[in-house]
Amino acid sequence: MRFSTLLVPTTKETPNDATLASHIFLLRGGFIQSVGGSGLYNFLPLGKRVLDKVRNVVKDELDAAGCQEVSLSFVTPASLWEESGRYEKYGKELLRFKDRKENEFVLGPTHEEMMVNLVRQSVKSYKQLPLNLYQINLKFRDEIRPRFGLMRGREFLMKDGYSFHTDEADMKREFDLMEETYKKIFTRLGLEFRVVEADSGAIGGSGSKEFMVLADSGEDTIVICDACDYGANIEAATRKEKACDAPAPTLPSEKVHTPDITTMEALSEYFNVNPYYLVKTVAMRALYDEGKSEIVLFALRGSDELQEVKACNAVDANDLVEVNEEELSEAGLVAGFMSPIGAPKGVRVVVDNTLKGASGMICGANEKDYHTTGNTIDEESFDFYDIVAVQEGDMCPKCGGTLRYTKGIEAGHIFQLGTRYSEPLGCTFLDENGKAKPMVMGTYGIGVSRLLAAIIEQHHDEKGCIWTKESAPFDLYVMVSNVKDEAQLALGEKVYEALKRKGIDVLFDDRKDRFGAKMKDYELIGVPHAVIIGKKLAEGMVEFVTREGMEKEEVPAEEIIAFVEEKLC
Ligand code: ATP
Ligand code: MG
Repeated sequence: MRFSTLLVPTTKETPNDATLASHIFLLRGGFIQSVGGSGLYNFLPLGKRVLDKVRNVVKDELDAAGCQEVSLSFVTPASLWEESGRYEKYGKELLRFKDRKENEFVLGPTHEEMMVNLVRQSVKSYKQLPLNLYQINLKFRDEIRPRFGLMRGREFLMKDGYSFHTDEADMKREFDLMEETYKKIFTRLGLEFRVVEADSGAIGGSGSKEFMVLADSGEDTIVICDACDYGANIEAATRKEKACDAPAPTLPSEKVHTPDITTMEALSEYFNVNPYYLVKTVAMRALYDEGKSEIVLFALRGSDELQEVKACNAVDANDLVEVNEEELSEAGLVAGFMSPIGAPKGVRVVVDNTLKGASGMICGANEKDYHTTGNTIDEESFDFYDIVAVQEGDMCPKCGGTLRYTKGIEAGHIFQLGTRYSEPLGCTFLDENGKAKPMVMGTYGIGVSRLLAAIIEQHHDEKGCIWTKESAPFDLYVMVSNVKDEAQLALGEKVYEALKRKGIDVLFDDRKDRFGAKMKDYELIGVPHAVIIGKKLAEGMVEFVTREGMEKEEVPAEEIIAFVEEKLC
């Protein structure tokens, strides 16, 4: 491709709202263009090339694993979402609209319902199973805070796959195969990543894993073990039970006047006890379907922090939101003095597992300026769940090693679904005995457009992008420093044509611009290698540049074609 004819509107200025390297360089490098500024992007020729490269790697590995590509309608009848019960649950991220006949539709944010609908119409017998169908297609989510460019768009490209099986064991086999396949995809794309245990939502269980691209700018906190391969999203991370060295308080069971003592710190000081022996009670409003909501008290040890996703799953809510003091007092609660013990009637209480049977505990008295000492958290009286956030320094649940936090970008997610969708949507098959059973499903996603951002987050320097081999828009950049120099231009043309014939994808910078400007564009666009034909040609030499580290090698001009072939092929 000749640069002189290619639409690559590179710019020097950092766009206003861009803070992440990937966002800045993808815009400045002319890969993408913002549309109206809120999570919508056009892909320009360079961006489209990268997107296709990434997409091809994904497709290549999935096809090799026996998956079949389909393409589903992006506009989805709302009735399918009603059948699965998600029409209500999904919330405002789901873009809903009507056609001229008042039929309701949604723009697919994910396609479980659509794929189940496809399969229930065309698969009847166990003989047609298993099946793994996928598409690489647009998704729309009306994200509350679209940001960071391609990282969190509203319209984005996703690979979404769904597998259908006669039983759980076969689904698990496919799940493992998808884990291996995803590892191959991310490895080919040159990414440093970690497979971690993920939140499985209200469905629960351990059948959900995320593929995290390691990057400081990642939005997800992941917990990893220093000693073994344990890794989990903070939303799903667990730890070995934590003991406390400090002795348990031996205070009698009584109500104590504690004026204005509303924080764990103050309470710990006041009673001179380790926060491990205090009960922290957090009130949140849980939101359910059909606009229903309730205040829930989450009780945990004073030394722990609440993990909101775990808490949300514990009550099977769609979301948890903060409550203000007014709402609290309406429910008969006093901020700073709340307690699971003696909570007002009708207020739901969830207690952390670590408090099961704990004694000698200090709690609020559910009365202003009072706490109670010498409490036992009775196992029979409460619902217990794991609702704590694992902290750095906690012990690995697998090996006892030390856990620490790191940041990751969620690039993929695989999920054991079971019959969550096949049952309500009636996606059944006839088994060997002619008995109808719901299919057992798995679901597997990759954020294809988000991967472009993830690659750059991991591979850039202060000057621009450094694309990895399999993601680069071109294999090689051939630059003629001064196109007015006939010898330079002639060699450039010769190298360009010869390498093109050999199947190397070359971006030939034949523009009339100054050398400095072209070099800046090269660094910004970040093709892995370049051949620079400049002044040294008079002495019979050209330069071979590696974008990573901007390493330069001088190569005799007559050997450059063979040299590039040797390096790239
Ligand atoms: P997140 O937690 O980042 O919002 P998610 O868990 O809601 O993502 P999934 O439903 O698991 O996302 O979707 C599959 C994949 O699609 C994700 O792993 C991610 O890579 C990608 N993805 C999700 N939301 C977006 C978005 N708004 N923009 C770009 N890619 C996205
Ligand atoms: Mg996910």
